[in-house]
Amino acid sequence: MSKVNWDFYDKNGFTRIINVNGTMTGLGASMAVQPAIQATAEIMPHFVNMHELQEKASSVISELTGAEAGFIAASASAGISMSIAACLTGDSVGKIEQLPKTIGQPIKVAVQMGHLCHYGASIEQAISLTGAQVTIVGQSTQVLDHQLEYAVSNEAIAAVYVVSHHVVEYGQIPLKRFCEICHAADVPVIVDAASEYDLEIFLADGADIVIYSGHKFLSGPTSGILAGKKDLIKAAYMQNLGIARGMKIGKESIYGAMAALKAWKKRDHAAIRQQEQSALKMWLKTCENINGITASMHADVTHNPLDRLKIQIDKTNLGASAGAIALALNSNNPKIIVRDHEVELGYIQLDPCNLAQGHAEIVSTALTSIFEQAILGNLPEPDFNKSRNSSINSYLNWISN
Ligand SMILES: *Cc1c(COP(=O)(O)O)cnc(C)c1O
Repeated sequence: MSKVNWDFYDKNGFTRIINVNGTMTGLGASMAVQPAIQATAEIMPHFVNMHELQEKASSVISELTGAEAGFIAASASAGISMSIAACLTGDSVGKIEQLPKTIGQPIKVAVQMGHLCHYGASIEQAISLTGAQVTIVGQSTQVLDHQLEYAVSNEAIAAVYVVSHHVVEYGQIPLKRFCEICHAADVPVIVDAASEYDLEIFLADGADIVIYSGHKFLSGPTSGILAGKKDLIKAAYMQNLGIARGMKIGKESIYGAMAALKAWKKRDHAAIRQQEQSALKMWLKTCENINGITASMHADVTHNPLDRLKIQIDKTNLGASAGAIALALNSNNPKIIVRDHEVELGYIQLDPCNLAQGHAEIVSTALTSIFEQAILGNLPEPDFNKSRNSSINSYLNWISN
């Protein structure tokens, strides 16, 4: 039997879960690292001057990113809203208290069409709840320089650039060029790099503020890390006097995120990669010599130092579709959540970055038995339209049945 200890799940009546999807809000983001866990507990019984705490956070952020300043927000999404609000108000407390009212002032925010993503909620809404308004630049798979030049020279107060697997991968303006064009029009660039590993490159490419999630690869408590130009960071922080009050972050998450950042710097990244590789190789072996299954390792699309296993499924040869395999894994005990956002293309992916001890073996065993069921023709095919909408239905069905 596996070495996995499920006591926490069983005593609370929680569904047992193995996450091979990646960091996911719906599953509680990531498995926190010990230093972050200890830090959150350590600060809980104490009072602390929150400005002082955020000033220490600023130093930690500067050290890791090279930014002039930084602070920690409730989430990356909150960080996007606070950054846009900063571009609307600067350090005017009067303006800060007025938002989302912006009577008579420029409010446009330029975003490439292919970057208007959904990360559980829409980025356009995170921008527009400040009172700002998105100007769409270009078309989904092609944006040319003149289109951004035109957008930022027409009453734009900011431009947003998203680095993510959620956005269109080609045909977009590269970040460096994007920043040159925006800066020529005196428009600051806010980069959403919520799930990116590289803490320096986006600032080095010219971003005025870059935003990371504290609870994704950093494995800290739920939080957003903002790093950038001092004036803009200060104006973003000042939004706590206004619209960001409802996005309040607690002392434990600030202190925990600081600990996660420090731990990130010291982490043995090579050893972690090695561990991930051994899980991937085990799964690759599980998929070998099965008619209808082609498995291969794939590098992350945004160049994070991470590989995933892509399992391509030929429904005719296997006897079940990729969607049916995903559904069967999801119905397993423990529930195995795979990366299935491109399932209509005939594949699922396994992400090894959130595995606890013993998880990889359970995934392997479950795959073997599910493939056997598929070959026997025993796997039900999911209703694709139902599964496409499952994230919404999970809300609609909450506490109603
Ligand atoms: C996850 C994600 C967000 C939201 O991050 P939170 O910290 O959970 O608010 C925003 N943008 C992108 C690209 C993301 O991947």
